[in-house]
Amino acid sequence: MRHDRLIRQTFARPLLEIRDLNVDFGTPRGRIHALRDVSLDVPASQVIGIVGESGSGKSTLVHTVMGLLPDNAAVTAGSIRLEGEDLLKMSTRARRSLLGNRLSMIFQDPMTALNPVRTIESQMIDVQHHDKRSRSQKSALALEMLHRVGIPDPQSRIRGFPHQFSGGMRQRVCIAMALLVKPALLVADEPTTALDATLEVQIIHLLKELQKEIGCSILFVSHHLGAVAELCDRVAVMYAGEVVEQGEVRDIFHNPAHPYTRALLECDPGLVRKSRRTLPTIPGEVPNLLGRNVGCIFRTRCRQAFNRCLQEKPVEYRIGVDQIARCHLLEKERLVSV
Ligand code: ATP
Ligand code: SF4
Ligand code: MG
Repeated sequence: MRHDRLIRQTFARPLLEIRDLNVDFGTPRGRIHALRDVSLDVPASQVIGIVGESGSGKSTLVHTVMGLLPDNAAVTAGSIRLEGEDLLKMSTRARRSLLGNRLSMIFQDPMTALNPVRTIESQMIDVQHHDKRSRSQKSALALEMLHRVGIPDPQSRIRGFPHQFSGGMRQRVCIAMALLVKPALLVADEPTTALDATLEVQIIHLLKELQKEIGCSILFVSHHLGAVAELCDRVAVMYAGEVVEQGEVRDIFHNPAHPYTRALLECDPGLVRKSRRTLPTIPGEVPNLLGRNVGCIFRTRCRQAFNRCLQEKPVEYRIGVDQIARCHLLEKERLVSV
């Protein structure tokens, strides 16, 4: 099984390929380097978790993929290829037409995606604007999808407005809308953070079922490592604008190679079994992303930091077949740089 997956990953081109992505925000205090040299693959039909403390750049990364960065942001280097085509080189029009078609998004707050003054039905019909079907056919598909995501009595609820739904039900409506278009990639930025633990489990199971059914890939941003362990095939660990480690979930959670990942997991060794809803706290000072950073980005909080870490940024090393981490210590283990 593992062998089959490795062969598939080696030969099949990933659905999404992010390479050496750099994004800055202009602020009155200067430029914040919010993403630095981020490289990440999203293979077809896989769920990739993105974890990291607040401010590590998770939302900036997924907003860059979706083309939803604010005006003060600039992509200063890198590429994002979706099905082989660089999104950063596309016209604004071509890019916009991918939204709600090949790319869909679920936000933390469902009200961000829903229009409060329009019925669920009209919004679910509008989201299918790329489809040539008639309005009544689109309405029937919307109804079917509401039923699929577990909205009780969808025939009458479809004519309701967003405020008539509870938070958990609104998020189900958003999932229904996002998946109605059968996207190639669904981006979910903390979709369960605002929900209580029971609702979170239900939504995670629903996402897992629908992902298998539709065959899409998911980029799943979460603070909740237990949810990532439950839902994701692979995980990327972000720290202060960089991906410090990535690989298969079971490799990263059982054999973390980067001191930051280890620190996250050491704070809560039972986290995969225990349902933990927030990332553990690691002592030390989080780096300032203004101006140029020298050395390893984790050096101010790393218990294993040594002289070289203060001066030189570590390259990526491959551990085993499919795990990559950025740390000078891995060179001593004679691992191959990527
Ligand atoms: P959280 O877990 O709190 O959602 P995050 O990992 O999603 O955090 P981002 O929101 O991507 O982090 O922020 C990354 C960095 O970019 C932070 O230092 C943040 O302050 C900065 N940043 C984000 N948006 C802007 C903006 N519009 N203008 C200036 N700086 C920004
Ligand atoms: Fe720690 Fe140095 Fe490795 Fe960075 S490179 S994680 S500071 S040991
Ligand atoms: Mg965020």
